[in-house]
Amino acid sequence: MPQVITPALVLRRADYADYDRMVTLFSPERGRIDAIARGCRRPKTPLVNAVEPFTSGEFQLYESRDRFTLEQCQISESYYDLRADYDRLLHGVYWLKLLDAAILPDIPAETLFIVTLRALAHLNWGELPPALVTMAFEMHFMALNGLAPRMNSCALCGRPIDGDTRFDAFLGGAVCLRCPSSAPKIGNGARRILMKLPRTQFDKFQLLDGHPDWPEAARHFRSYINLKMHLDRFAPPLHQAQA
Ligand SMILES: [Zn+2]
Repeated sequence: MPQVITPALVLRRADYADYDRMVTLFSPERGRIDAIARGCRRPKTPLVNAVEPFTSGEFQLYESRDRFTLEQCQISESYYDLRADYDRLLHGVYWLKLLDAAILPDIPAETLFIVTLRALAHLNWGELPPALVTMAFEMHFMALNGLAPRMNSCALCGRPIDGDTRFDAFLGGAVCLRCPSSAPKIGNGARRILMKLPRTQFDKFQLLDGHPDWPEAARHFRSYINLKMHLDRFAPPLHQAQA
């Protein structure tokens, strides 16, 4: 079936030849799609806005010998506000890098797609600190990729954990205070956020606004995701004042 119609989010674009662009799409049904957008750098082309990062909509592609050509796009959202705000943009760009590193061709990722659009809506229109939205996105992103840290039992001895403990990013979870470890301590409140947030509906993270423990949870989780994803250089500041 050479024609493909799919909802998608643009993760990145790159110039190609004289007037073309390569665009990387995240489709909930088909995962990653790298497509060529022919002529989209010519003046007055209808595709010019469709190949900007953060654009989401319904994309029509033509598939031939495993290559995709972008034919049309019905844009549903461009997220202009976040693209015009440096602080928010820093966070959004980091999310796109995480997705770009994780989304694979022909592997559907429907829940992650929905989570991503919800997170982008909060970042674009919401009033919450961008660092809080990023923490929620990071935790759901890792859990949906099967990489949630284990926070309810010790990674060394297996004992159940309730209360203050240590968090060992390398071992991928909590280490109890009875086991020998030089991993940093994590308070019980932050530990419970790491344990519970990825298991709740995405929008529930809003309840953490003003919660004293989320910055500590964000700090520990960032050390963990940096170790797993190697995207440190794109990671935005953790405690950013709201713009
Ligand atoms: Zn232990």
